[in-house]
Amino acid sequence: MSKTIQSIRGMHDVLPELTPVWQHVESTLARVAAMYGYSEIRTPIVEETALFQRSIGEVTDIVEKEMYSFDDRNGASLSLRPEGTASCVRACLQHGLIHNQQRKLWYCGPMFRHERPQKGRYRQFHQFGVEAFGIASPALDAELIMMVARIWRELGLHDIHLEINTLGSTEARLAHRAVLIEYLESHVDKLDEDARRRMYSNPLRVLDSKNPDMQSLIEAAPKLADYLDETSQCEFQQVQDLLKAAGISYRVNPRLVRGLDYYNKTVFEWVTTRLGAQGTVCAGGRYDTLVDQLGGRATPAAGFAIGLERLVALIEEAHGVQRSPDADLYILAMGSHAEAEALVMAEQLRDAFPGLRIMSNLGGGSLKAQFKRADRSGARYALILGEDELQRGVVGIKALRHDEEQQEITRASLVDLLRQKLQA
Ligand code: ATP
Ligand code: MG
Repeated sequence: MSKTIQSIRGMHDVLPELTPVWQHVESTLARVAAMYGYSEIRTPIVEETALFQRSIGEVTDIVEKEMYSFDDRNGASLSLRPEGTASCVRACLQHGLIHNQQRKLWYCGPMFRHERPQKGRYRQFHQFGVEAFGIASPALDAELIMMVARIWRELGLHDIHLEINTLGSTEARLAHRAVLIEYLESHVDKLDEDARRRMYSNPLRVLDSKNPDMQSLIEAAPKLADYLDETSQCEFQQVQDLLKAAGISYRVNPRLVRGLDYYNKTVFEWVTTRLGAQGTVCAGGRYDTLVDQLGGRATPAAGFAIGLERLVALIEEAHGVQRSPDADLYILAMGSHAEAEALVMAEQLRDAFPGLRIMSNLGGGSLKAQFKRADRSGARYALILGEDELQRGVVGIKALRHDEEQQEITRASLVDLLRQKLQA
């Protein structure tokens, strides 16, 4: 026998025992997004590589080394999307969705990054994200954060902490950048390879390095906070006042810079210590220059993305996962006539009980084997239909999860009896 094919490293199946958790998460996210006036957008998984180069930035981890890029048959360079924001902006510009109007959008789906797989870090992972366009007010930043806080509450999650920072205006970042490069140049012997490569193209990212040998150097580096423009500082203060008024606790983390190029002003992350090293569950902020960068008219924008694998892991950790039954009702059928009749009866019951999960025994088997399947299905009741029952116009009914005498009932009164039993 030849070796069976496995899924790609870092890309995982979501198995049936976990899909109910995913469905619960996804429906909660969609519901909360609607509560704040966001509507769903679905964009293609594949885009022109240039879209991500121009938005995320050439000198970022994602574009430098994490993208799944390939040449299409006609030679165009395409990439699997590594995140959702760029596609959203592209779609908005292409369809005129943000022309002279505010627009609130959400998306949910798979993203792809060629990273080193480990717990909480995969090559195909899923993000739920929202993007709001055309709103410059810091009230939006606060509302986005409140929305995330509501998501945690709705999912019954605690122990996720909010960190916020401001990156200031583009001008402030440029002023800081100049002195930062000077500082890095004067310590070039202490920089690791990544830092040397980035110090001119994206020096702020050097401060984001996790290399322990560089931490003291980073600690002593010129701080962006000292170069912030007055407007950004004032708006950052407003965000904080709004969070306080909403009762949301936070920590200002001046080292929070985000890995993507397009952020400015308010940035935030929600972090938990319950997942080990990969503890960032949600990340977001303002990106007022991105629309313009992608060829649109300058449009203020802000959003966030939540990593669903980390969210599902948190829910598993906090609440455990109960296996949910496949069926509520299982119909046993002995003999080919009974099997045919059971299919008809099952359809009638589905009409009568639209929410009920009903399984007919398919493929025969002894009474014992069929009861075993019924039990495994998780059903509360089994209906039993043999040739004898068929002739007499009755059905047997047996409770599978509690003690109750097996009963026989006429086909005519089956729906009423089931209604009573299932409500109990
Ligand atoms: P990190 O610093 O962990 O690499 P990032 O800055 O690259 O994160 P974003 O691009 O902001 O992450 O993505 C937002 C969220 O998506 C993250 O906070 C995380 O929850 C999730 N995420 C990002 N990359 C992965 C991945 N490879 N596997 C699983 N989840 C991911
Ligand atoms: Mg990353």
